[in-house]
Amino acid sequence: MRRIFNPGNLLIKNCKIFGKPGYKASDILIENNIIKKILPSGKIGKLPALKSINLKGNMIYPGFNDAHTHFMWLGLKMLRINLDASESVDDLYNIVSEAVKKYENGKPLIGEGYDESKWTNKTPISKKKLDELAPNNPLVLRRVCGHRGYANTNALKKIPADCMIVKRDTGELFEDVVLYIHRIFPPSEDELMLGLSKAIKLAEKEGVTSITDVVNKGYFNIYQKYFQKYKPKLRVSLYFVAALMDEIIGTGMLTGFGNEYLKIRGIKVFTDGSIGAYTAAIYKNYIGKKTKGILIYNSKKLESLIEKVNNNNLQLMIHAIGDRAIQQVLDTFNKVGYSRKLRHRLEHIELVSDKQLKKIKEMGLIASMQPNFVGEWSGPGEMYDQRLPEYYYRQNNPIKKISKLKIPMAFGSDCMPFGPKYGIESAVKHPIPGSEINLNRAIEAYTTGSAFAEHEEKIKGKIKVGYLADLVYNIKFNI
Ligand SMILES: [Zn+2]
Repeated sequence: MRRIFNPGNLLIKNCKIFGKPGYKASDILIENNIIKKILPSGKIGKLPALKSINLKGNMIYPGFNDAHTHFMWLGLKMLRINLDASESVDDLYNIVSEAVKKYENGKPLIGEGYDESKWTNKTPISKKKLDELAPNNPLVLRRVCGHRGYANTNALKKIPADCMIVKRDTGELFEDVVLYIHRIFPPSEDELMLGLSKAIKLAEKEGVTSITDVVNKGYFNIYQKYFQKYKPKLRVSLYFVAALMDEIIGTGMLTGFGNEYLKIRGIKVFTDGSIGAYTAAIYKNYIGKKTKGILIYNSKKLESLIEKVNNNNLQLMIHAIGDRAIQQVLDTFNKVGYSRKLRHRLEHIELVSDKQLKKIKEMGLIASMQPNFVGEWSGPGEMYDQRLPEYYYRQNNPIKKISKLKIPMAFGSDCMPFGPKYGIESAVKHPIPGSEINLNRAIEAYTTGSAFAEHEEKIKGKIKVGYLADLVYNIKFNI
């Protein structure tokens, strides 16, 4: 995959243009990073001394726009113990044991990305074993979803006694303490800057030209410092964590504040957990568990939060996975009112009902979906099937229904893993019959759909005169 970003003046010759019916060979003239002309090949004429590339009839696409990442975290993950590849608990112990040797005593160690739903042997992670593996370091392992994890005794000592849902006997951690582990073990500024540089390099490699991330004050500060210092080739939309809501509102900031590269959009709110952690809020019990998941807010609190953010003209990014959480959000919007212009977004909505989809369409909300989840967990015998009652399994990630209803749909990776290709292929190969969408529609969701969610559909996400020349080519989809 090759990416074009801020090319200055450039002539792209002999390409097929994504989204242009007929796919005739065209030339694209770019001036000052903006698409100036698109004409049939050879018609732009001789432009001496202009840099040019010849695509030899290959397709060119708008740059991919990842509508839901944890980009700063992705950078940190690249510096941490990577558990993505662990296939069993013993495998995980081996990876940790090797990794621990590389760090000095006392340094807090964080492992990222294990997914026990993929292990054949379901023996849980043992705190005792983690103590043996890292006797001289605090050690925390985070599940792929970030909503669940394990800590060894050294780490548990640092986790404040009033922290919610920590099982000190088994070392199990849930929700806030895992999601915000950086509050207990904060990364240094050097680590954050280095991590961000690694994530930006990866974006370049994956053909991504825009991303959306969620930040606290520290991360926001690093983004500014990094962009001022290095002027990287990436466009970023930022949402602040809900804990900062009052402070952000207090500044009078509005959706869209910032510059061409770094923009503030609004506030991110979690209303439930994840399916992997059995905390996404649904109406039936999970298989083999006496739980229907959890709602993070009582209705009164959610109402005041949504009302406040909306009334102060900030966009909401609302994490809601289960239908019970989605219903709470829809009811809240119904009750307190909201501005359509702000384009509030619902994140994930993996277990949304047909009735709720109709309501979402009616209300003009955005469906921000992560088709990577389909690739990871939608197949027979995989996590959704293992953990959810049949109805929910059949209904998981109904992207075709969303597409048919013409609900504005943005695609993102949630960094599981980062990069558009896997998500696009997963959307096309959705294993629940009737849930798949075609390749063009999937690419649109990852380009124009994401640009719409950012209020930038008039400058990004299409190959059109007047649009930014954020482009990619040399892509092969395995469909
Ligand atoms: Zn996320």
